[in-house]
Amino acid sequence: MNDSATYEVVLGVDVGGTGTAFGLVDRAGRCHAQGAMATDSHQPPEQFFQRLFEQVAALQAGLAGHPVLVGLGFGAPNANHHTGAIVHPPNLHWEFVDLPAQVHPYYELPVAVTNDANAVALGEHRFGAARGMRDFIAITLGTGVGGAIVANGAMVYGVTGMAAELGHTTAVPGGRECGCGRLGCLEAYASASGIQRTAAELLAQRRAPSTLRALAYDELTSLRLCQEALGGDALAREAFTVTGRILGAKLADSVLHTSPEAIILFGGVAAAGDLLFLPTALALEENLPLVFQGRVRLLPSGLPGADAAILGAAALGWTQLAGTAP
Ligand SMILES: [Zn+2]
Repeated sequence: MNDSATYEVVLGVDVGGTGTAFGLVDRAGRCHAQGAMATDSHQPPEQFFQRLFEQVAALQAGLAGHPVLVGLGFGAPNANHHTGAIVHPPNLHWEFVDLPAQVHPYYELPVAVTNDANAVALGEHRFGAARGMRDFIAITLGTGVGGAIVANGAMVYGVTGMAAELGHTTAVPGGRECGCGRLGCLEAYASASGIQRTAAELLAQRRAPSTLRALAYDELTSLRLCQEALGGDALAREAFTVTGRILGAKLADSVLHTSPEAIILFGGVAAAGDLLFLPTALALEENLPLVFQGRVRLLPSGLPGADAAILGAAALGWTQLAGTAP
């Protein structure tokens, strides 16, 4: 790109419980510049947006050529696509944030908002593994478990704007307590803390030697479990098998709801690859009626890991600007 080139970018912002990542992304999905900062939700939202937009202005000024900001996309927990509000977000201290009202003193530009899982799904659809698909489901397996459903070429938002909360559907009736107050939610099993609990339970139940026995509970991260499983630890491998079986059986229900061509698994726990994908795929097929078997592809994310959440939020902005589905 020469120094005089003018090009359009959308600001993609992923608001997380601890950190917020942001980047300037063009129409083709190239992230020209990115930054990160502490979310620090103890402070009022006004201070968050002031800090954010100071950093964005600095990013923009540092870019070659003339990047023109044309819109903003936000992925945030408990964000309502219809109203643009974040309401009682888990892991954040804010009770209510009206995003467009916070943004408009700084930028008179279109602002699009959705929850983080929907943003990831839009990123996959525009730039990643779901390009060209009209029917797919995206599941984020991280601190929590999020879901997004694209059916008949459109994102399913529902009357609340918050549809597809697959993490809080019941995976094990009467099972583990979930952060939402219910029992047996998928999130209590397939999130990072879910697989951590599974590994601890297996250690208590089994007598077999395991490298995991030398670790403290906090060290049973999905990354560490993956490393130990790949190193040959049978118990670490079993933690993924148990998780995949619960996840796959639950996903079979979702397949019957919308008949997707693919399910995309995204996030830290999904980074374990075949350790998780193989038992998940097996359980998915086992729980599907014959006519649905062999029809659903289970895919890893097609977005570059480090930028995925930013690309997802930016894809939301671009999709809103284009006025196209999903
Ligand atoms: Zn729950």
